[in-house]
Amino acid sequence: MLIVQKFGGTSVANPDRVFNVAGIITEKFKEGHDVIAVVSAQGDTTDELIEKAREINRDASRREMDMLLSAGEQISAALLAMAIEKLGYPVISLLGWQAGFNTNSAYGSARIKRINTERIRAELDKRKIVIVAGFQGINRHGDITTLGRGGSDTSAVGIAAALGADLCQIFTDVDGVYTADPRKVPTAFKLDEITYDEMLELATLGAQVLNNRSVELAKKYNIELEVLSSITKVPGTRVKEAVKVEKMLVKGVAKDTNVARVMIVGVPDKPGVAFQVFSRVAKAHINVDIILQSVGRDNTKDITFTVASDKGAESVAAIKDYVEKIGAKSLTYDTNVAKISIVGAGMETHEGVAARMFEALADAGINIQMISTSEIKISVLIDAADADRAVAAVHSAFFDVQNML
Ligand code: ADP
Ligand code: ASP
Ligand code: MG
Repeated sequence: MLIVQKFGGTSVANPDRVFNVAGIITEKFKEGHDVIAVVSAQGDTTDELIEKAREINRDASRREMDMLLSAGEQISAALLAMAIEKLGYPVISLLGWQAGFNTNSAYGSARIKRINTERIRAELDKRKIVIVAGFQGINRHGDITTLGRGGSDTSAVGIAAALGADLCQIFTDVDGVYTADPRKVPTAFKLDEITYDEMLELATLGAQVLNNRSVELAKKYNIELEVLSSITKVPGTRVKEAVKVEKMLVKGVAKDTNVARVMIVGVPDKPGVAFQVFSRVAKAHINVDIILQSVGRDNTKDITFTVASDKGAESVAAIKDYVEKIGAKSLTYDTNVAKISIVGAGMETHEGVAARMFEALADAGINIQMISTSEIKISVLIDAADADRAVAAVHSAFFDVQNML
């Protein structure tokens, strides 16, 4: 078998952990399998590197940021290879570019365009364990790029897809995908299985356990993923095709605090306003998430929308001139909001799911500012101060034993 294993930052945080991971890898290798291991930077290295950059230049170019951040994964890849050498096994570590990761030039959030697998295959043919620095690649100018925070997951799934691996294991610091962040919700429980679509929604809506692009890739190339712990040796969660997964009403609750709400109050109630506003936001390359437009009253209406928290000010700047020109009463944004979501393929065929979520929030005295839904998710925007209470209340409404009957 060809196995791809990915180890997150906590899993390689110190020498003991590095040897623990070396043990997991060599165990598979001993069984006769080909093993490729993708690693993240140790512990909080990436955050520390970002902090170092800020001390020098808060407006550093994205190119130089990627040059810096890719160093974290270079260190862990080399250290892990050294540990495996010490255990007496053949091994080689490769940086993203050596492993054939070609990306576009979007520094800081580059997309994989192609993985040239020649070098990895040659090393596997020599019966070597291959360690790959995750999170990084090279663009057509020959410059180093990174894939965005949490991007090592995407590196791992990318290699698994490019090489047609039989198994892709994502080792992390929890033993699977839970019904909510197990560090925040003590009653959350581990799911045995989840579909690609459900996992994609959960990851996009704030569950950082898997990077959403990695799930997108896994779905596209039908790579079954297993999310499991590098410490406790218990079965993890399988992420796979819908037909093989039991339908549950709701699979999980997620929280996203990376949200800003932009509010335009009192714009004329006439055709074309929404078009003018959102085409300006789009031109500024800002992604809009939830949109709410009030019913017109006294010939005016309000438009509210959400964007990523660091795009609030930019959104306001992009539409300020237009909004002033048409005589809106006010244009403001705030980041004291959070988005709470529930995800589950079962809600497609069940009524009353939204009502149950809203009831839980009402009982907790939490006000809903905006609502958005799709076939398999419901999201609400609330005050950031209520976020953790909201997750607990909604989780309990769907997952406490008495409520699941
Ligand atoms: P790694 O460094 O291994 O990539 P991450 O920190 O990126 O690990 O992701 C693992 C973390 O994701 C867990 O420690 C947990 O707190 C968080 N998390 C959030 N939502 C969930 C969830 N639904 N299930 C499991 N973990 C979750
Ligand atoms: N080290 C990078 C980060 O912290 C990539 C990863 O961990 O997947 O975001
Ligand atoms: Mg991660």
